[in-house]
Amino acid sequence: MSRNVAKGQRQWVFSFPEGDGTNKQLLGGKGAQLAGMTSLGLPVPPGFTITTEACAQYYASGKTLPDGLWDQVLAAVKDLEETIGRGFGDPSDPLLVSVRSGAAISMPGMMDTVLNLGINEQVAAAIAQSTQKESFALDLHRRFIQMFGNVVLGIDGHLFDEIMVAKQREREVEQGAGLSPADFRDIIARFKAIIRSATGEDISDDPYVQLERAIRAVFESWNSRRAIAYRNSQGIPHDMHTAVNVQAMVFGNRDDDSSTGVLFTRNPSTGEKKLYGEYLRNAQGEDVVAGTSTPHDINYMAEEIPEIYRQLVEVSDLLEGHYRDIQDMEFTVEQGKLYMLQTRDGKRGAKAAVKAAVDMVAEGLITKEEAILRVDPEQIYQLLLPRFDEKTREAATSEGKLLGSGLGASPGAASGKLALTADTAADLGGKRVSVILARPETVAEDVHGIVAAAGVLTSRGGATSHAAVVARGLGKPSVTGAESIEINPEGGYIRCGDVTVKEGAEISIDGTSGEVFIGSLETVRPRFEEEKEMITLLSWADSERRLGVWANADSPLDAEVARGFGAEGIGLCRTEHMFFAPERLSVVQDMILAAHRSLQRPKDQELQEKYHNALAELELLQTADFEGVFRAMDGKTVVIRLLDPPLHEFLPSHERLQSELAELKAKGADAAILAEKEALAATVGELREVNPMLGLRGCRVGLMYPAINEMQARAIIRAAHNVSEEGVIVKPEIMVPLVSHANEMKRVRDGLESTIESLHQEEGISVSYKIGVMIETPRAALTAGEIAESAEFFSFGTNDLTQTAFAFSRDDAEGKFLMRYVDEGILDKNPFQVLDREGIGQLVEMACESGRKSRPDLEIGICGEHGGDPSSVEFFHEAGLDYVSASPYRVPVARLAAAQAALRSGARQ
Ligand code: ADP
Ligand code: MG
Ligand code: MG
Repeated sequence: MSRNVAKGQRQWVFSFPEGDGTNKQLLGGKGAQLAGMTSLGLPVPPGFTITTEACAQYYASGKTLPDGLWDQVLAAVKDLEETIGRGFGDPSDPLLVSVRSGAAISMPGMMDTVLNLGINEQVAAAIAQSTQKESFALDLHRRFIQMFGNVVLGIDGHLFDEIMVAKQREREVEQGAGLSPADFRDIIARFKAIIRSATGEDISDDPYVQLERAIRAVFESWNSRRAIAYRNSQGIPHDMHTAVNVQAMVFGNRDDDSSTGVLFTRNPSTGEKKLYGEYLRNAQGEDVVAGTSTPHDINYMAEEIPEIYRQLVEVSDLLEGHYRDIQDMEFTVEQGKLYMLQTRDGKRGAKAAVKAAVDMVAEGLITKEEAILRVDPEQIYQLLLPRFDEKTREAATSEGKLLGSGLGASPGAASGKLALTADTAADLGGKRVSVILARPETVAEDVHGIVAAAGVLTSRGGATSHAAVVARGLGKPSVTGAESIEINPEGGYIRCGDVTVKEGAEISIDGTSGEVFIGSLETVRPRFEEEKEMITLLSWADSERRLGVWANADSPLDAEVARGFGAEGIGLCRTEHMFFAPERLSVVQDMILAAHRSLQRPKDQELQEKYHNALAELELLQTADFEGVFRAMDGKTVVIRLLDPPLHEFLPSHERLQSELAELKAKGADAAILAEKEALAATVGELREVNPMLGLRGCRVGLMYPAINEMQARAIIRAAHNVSEEGVIVKPEIMVPLVSHANEMKRVRDGLESTIESLHQEEGISVSYKIGVMIETPRAALTAGEIAESAEFFSFGTNDLTQTAFAFSRDDAEGKFLMRYVDEGILDKNPFQVLDREGIGQLVEMACESGRKSRPDLEIGICGEHGGDPSSVEFFHEAGLDYVSASPYRVPVARLAAAQAALRSGARQ
């Protein structure tokens, strides 16, 4: 316990050497790292940290400083004075400090830093005297008034900026450093006047009053609107509170031998192990980020100030070695001496995250397990997203097609026609036109437009704005806060400078870099085989995970892609996707019409023949398709789902047929043609459903039209036999969709078995196969034990299970109210993206348990979109599933997520 703490008092204040470099909860991230760097012997200007507990107590006691806090601060300032050998407010040899906020998690939206605190006219004069630099001293004073006025007193910063800028323009200088003492005196007088008129009081000249007000202001900033909104958007708890750091100032703006800068130990976008950052000579702290003058690349320092550069390299190695991660640092050099002001784990892009993790294992800095846990699986996905071809992008830029840029708020790249209202976007999107929705900002009413768009652009709002959150939620690229672009829906255009793009013209956005281009740019997919570090990381992940990772693939091509990404099987092959090809659709339609009519007229021989001919034709096509998929998946399981959608999805729309009929009649068309159209319209009318999602679909189709199931079973088994003759190893599994009652499953199974049995007999072949069920209705989950009696495997269809259990139709929900639900916190997440553990998860667990009870060797997987979502994958790992099946591009994501789930649950045991 510190000697500055009175008996019975809590210790609210820790000097940097006293602090525990690992206790971020108590000292905040910045405070803990300042303590950490101090204990590593690095040159950190001395100071102290007021704990997050003090901030919590401040609120608990109705915004009064906790008992003993101020005494401890006074004692800590005294210690600081002794260490430095200068006095706080001492006009003969003054000490100035910075007051810096810092919560456990770095948080934009909280208080900005106040530098040069403790200054007043006398103190400034003393500094002028001792340094023989009057402008420098006065510049410190004006900086203080400006920051204190803005940050502590809440006065609009522009008021100060305007005066500074006007003065610099008047004197024709680029930096404040070029102004004369008289200029600064004038500025200071005007700054003071601003404060007087805004607050009715003079700015305090008493350093201790300044300090107390700054400390309170940091506490208050924890509950600023910006801070609360940020915590809400990131799910950061509101009761962590912030620490306050008070630190002796060092002056990078003292002379040309002084400087200030920021740097990363590795490149935060590529991961390359080489210092990355920038610095400014003769400047203070925030001048580097303020963009008022252009800083130098940090590597230029190797020539300009080699000695400091050498020290920075050393410090970087030391800090990386200590924190075992990429560090993001701030430093200042005063008269040739280096000081470290901050270090923290550096934020990094996807590529850097993967490369740094893999490199650090090779460097012996971290273990493979740590590397696996360190990369966010979504970053793997980002690396595989389409992006603009580098050449195209460079060409576009040099042709002046780069319209402007904003924040890369949701990754990926997209091109499309410019739409300026949600309705236009929804309209064009509905016609399968690729559109980019551009709005000044988006609101809940715009969601249907975002759903229909290929990407979203806004001129206002940041990474947590409505547009950004919704776009990320839907996995669409988005650029937000592109302030240089005027988005004018009323005028029907967007504009940057003198370049205007009209609604309907093509534009392209890059949601990773934030760039906006005129015209349609070609996108390319990165090549997986070339992502060496990712492949290494995933191979480590494979040896940790217990869950199998399979893919959803409908065609031989998809299957090959999936296999390239490491898929260990096909968990869902949707046969109907092969039906939509234009040259097949007419055969499918003939089959459906004949099926339906022959049900009504079972005695009609001609009709029966038509039906069977159409089926026979389809059987040939399907057999060939399945052969392709089996070949691509040599040695791996392929789960083929029987026909699932409502039949009318394959037929022309009823409305269109009606209007065609009217047209034909008006034209006085041939009677035979007219009759055929009429018959078609009648059948389509009969097949129409009020609620197709809950209508004649799934296993119900095969129960109504058993010949369809028979055809599919024969195609699967014959294809399996054919390719096995070629030496390919086939493991076919037939999956029955949308079962809700055990009797459905039993009936379908019996039908399939007898078909396959006769095929075996007729052709003298024998193929081993499994028949299983898709669990995608609540009733199926509830009665899974009974269903398992006629199913050798379960595969959770979590899309439909989520729809049916929530009674949400996904298309309606996402377009209308679901995003609002998420926005308002009615639901935490979109349950179609992240599995709802409490509800749907419970159904999954129940079904696993009762299914395995009645059939211990039941194979269980999941083939909904959740199979590629990291949080859901973690749940499936814990629920004891055998595998997850994801869309091909999410297979790598699932591999990493499954390994993380295994490592985390292992760590918990
Ligand atoms: P932020 O969290 O916004 O980076 P900081 O508290 O880190 O805020 O400080 C803002 C700027 O002021 C940084 O450039 C930092 O290096 C600089 N700074 C903070 N304290 C001092 C100090 N004691 N001496 C010199 N510069 C400082
Ligand atoms: Mg900082
Ligand atoms: Mg389904």
